[in-house]
Amino acid sequence: MSLIGKIGETGTCRPAHTELEKQGFELASSWIKAAGMTTRIDNFGNLIGRLEGKNPELPVLMMGSHLDSQPYGGRFDGVAGVLCAIEVATTLTENGIIPERSIEVISFADEEGWRFNKGLFGSRGILGKLEKEELKRTDKDGISREKALKDFGCNVKQFKASEYKPGSIFCFLELHIEQGPILDMANKPIGVVSGISGPLWWTVKLKGMAGHTGSVPMPIRKDALVGAAEIIIAVNEIATQIPGAPTVGTVGTLNVFPASRNIIPEEVTFTVDLRDIDLDRRNRYEKQLRNRIEAIAQKHQLTYEISEDTNSEPRYCADWIKKIIHEECETLHLDAPELMSGPFHDALALSYACDYGMIFVRCKDGISHNPLEYSSYEDLAIGANVLLGTVLQVLKK
Ligand SMILES: [Zn+2]
Repeated sequence: MSLIGKIGETGTCRPAHTELEKQGFELASSWIKAAGMTTRIDNFGNLIGRLEGKNPELPVLMMGSHLDSQPYGGRFDGVAGVLCAIEVATTLTENGIIPERSIEVISFADEEGWRFNKGLFGSRGILGKLEKEELKRTDKDGISREKALKDFGCNVKQFKASEYKPGSIFCFLELHIEQGPILDMANKPIGVVSGISGPLWWTVKLKGMAGHTGSVPMPIRKDALVGAAEIIIAVNEIATQIPGAPTVGTVGTLNVFPASRNIIPEEVTFTVDLRDIDLDRRNRYEKQLRNRIEAIAQKHQLTYEISEDTNSEPRYCADWIKKIIHEECETLHLDAPELMSGPFHDALALSYACDYGMIFVRCKDGISHNPLEYSSYEDLAIGANVLLGTVLQVLKK
């Protein structure tokens, strides 16, 4: 799979709804068919393999991830989850296991979201959760989502036909590389995901007053950048106040106006990204941060505006699935820590439709969204075995 859209030695660029993704789908389809499944591409551009159960009326067990990549991405993000799911289905077929409920292996369209600036397209699509005007979004070449989907062979007038009715998905399982360093640092190949943390995204605008850097005395300055600097430190202090807690806080952008070396910064705009698996704690921290911003603005005689861009809640994995994954890890003599996912995944969209569980596989130094991304084949094999064991237990439910 890594040869399709290969960049450099170990990188991947396989954008959503493109000829390259189509090639990836064709390769994956060949493996899906070899596993005894039917395969189709739906109107959202998702690739779906189906292993028909004895009782096709039962809600399906769905598993998978995505085959699209970042523009400067690695070989494992998303791919690991799709290929391990196919491997599990293959193993069932090879062992003559025909499950009671049908199993579907899915590669969701445009999980990554960079091409049209909006991700989780296929997983939101099947649940009827696309937003108005989404098809009008364009990529950097001016190609609309609608055109990209049509060129991919999708019928955008027939989205309804590709949606899943409420209750028709029994549960969703996703294996994914961790994309962070926790498992690698703990020297553990597998982690059990507790949930996907909800990001709070703000844009903050601070306003002071411009003036000559050579003449305005320090005590009467209204320097917006000094205020921003103190807020960045505050974000960091707030997010680290409980050692070991999974809270993360980041200021990732900073725009300074008028950005001249001899003008006191008048206006600074920056983003805040605050995430936690514990919504109460995140809410407490949000309050703390608002108080700190108020105090810092007063201190430097600045005015400020906070606009909220995203406020999503954490979504927890189902306890019963987590328990099964833990048991399967124990069977394989793995000491698998529980950890939350900072990044979001297709499972986040699915969490609004069914119970879900996630298995994390260690990735070297936590590097992801980078050609250097690496998970060993030994670790991926262990992950596939945990997924297999989990599927066998879930099928008993
Ligand atoms: Zn991914």
